[in-house]
Amino acid sequence: MKTLLFLLLSALVASAAPKNLEIYWIDAEGGAATLIVTPAGESMLVDTANRALDDRDAKRIFAAAQKAGLKKIDILLTTHFHGDHIGAMPVLATMIPIGMYMDHGESVEIARPNVAAAYHAYTDLAGTKRRSLKPGDKIPLKGVDIEVVISGGRAITKARTGGGESVTRCAEYKAHDPDVDPDNDQSVGFVLKFGKFDFLDLGDLTWNSEPKLVCPANLIGKIDLFQTSHHGLDRSNSPQLLEAIQPTVAVMNNGPRKGPNASVFDTLRHVGGVQDIWQGHLALGTPKEMNAPEDMIANFEATADCKGNLLMVSVEANGKFTMTNLRNGFSKSYQAK
Ligand SMILES: [Zn+2]
Ligand SMILES: [Zn+2]
Repeated sequence: MKTLLFLLLSALVASAAPKNLEIYWIDAEGGAATLIVTPAGESMLVDTANRALDDRDAKRIFAAAQKAGLKKIDILLTTHFHGDHIGAMPVLATMIPIGMYMDHGESVEIARPNVAAAYHAYTDLAGTKRRSLKPGDKIPLKGVDIEVVISGGRAITKARTGGGESVTRCAEYKAHDPDVDPDNDQSVGFVLKFGKFDFLDLGDLTWNSEPKLVCPANLIGKIDLFQTSHHGLDRSNSPQLLEAIQPTVAVMNNGPRKGPNASVFDTLRHVGGVQDIWQGHLALGTPKEMNAPEDMIANFEATADCKGNLLMVSVEANGKFTMTNLRNGFSKSYQAK
């Protein structure tokens, strides 16, 4: 009897304990798929990676959703309509129900047959469950605060709480040539706030659009965890952005041969002041010593042999957040600012 009472009590205590916010980075060989699960059990998937012959990425996303105990994806946020961000969507939608579809509005690359086909597959699938986002919009996910800071090329115009300071490197900012893939700069970018913890994901927003958010003044504020833009490529991740957001931790959804460039490692560490960089993949095209320590890299192999190990973070309500490499179980905790 005593034992039964004890079991009942411990079950009650366990169910009353506050749950954590969890974010999973699905390895998509240089594509994007980030799964956010709130303490209330609601979920938002940001991007659906590549279309692959064997449905590799759809299967990897579905496996992560199952690991997180999800029966459905409440919100699918598509940052923009490139193949490495929407490719696995049609197949994924046959594996798990999707509640709402959010995006930046019309594709600006509709003249490209490949993009047009993928975009129309998206609009057919989303149907009446589609919503296009504007800067300042809140994404309705229970228990967290998610604000859209840029979408469709337009940024918020007022600084978020904690932002507003001037960014000194804006004086030396130089634009790149216009991006050859203009939909990147239409990307939806958002800040997810959970207690003191702030997570920033700007999709594939490029260097040329980053000043909209941080020059002359930092509209974003300081960030605890930054998903490096554009898979860690140097077409994004300017020193101006990194000086502004000062992330404690950066996570890269890079592929074996896609991002990050040496200059981005340098900017993250020496301008952004990051404590640690965690990588989906060892970057084979960048000197080994520039990469993160092995414990913080989820996959080493080239794509053909890659097992698609996950990175994840678990965020407590008190601001402590713990990154874990699911390849080897290595984890490290940080404190939100
Ligand atoms: Zn991309
Ligand atoms: Zn892109």
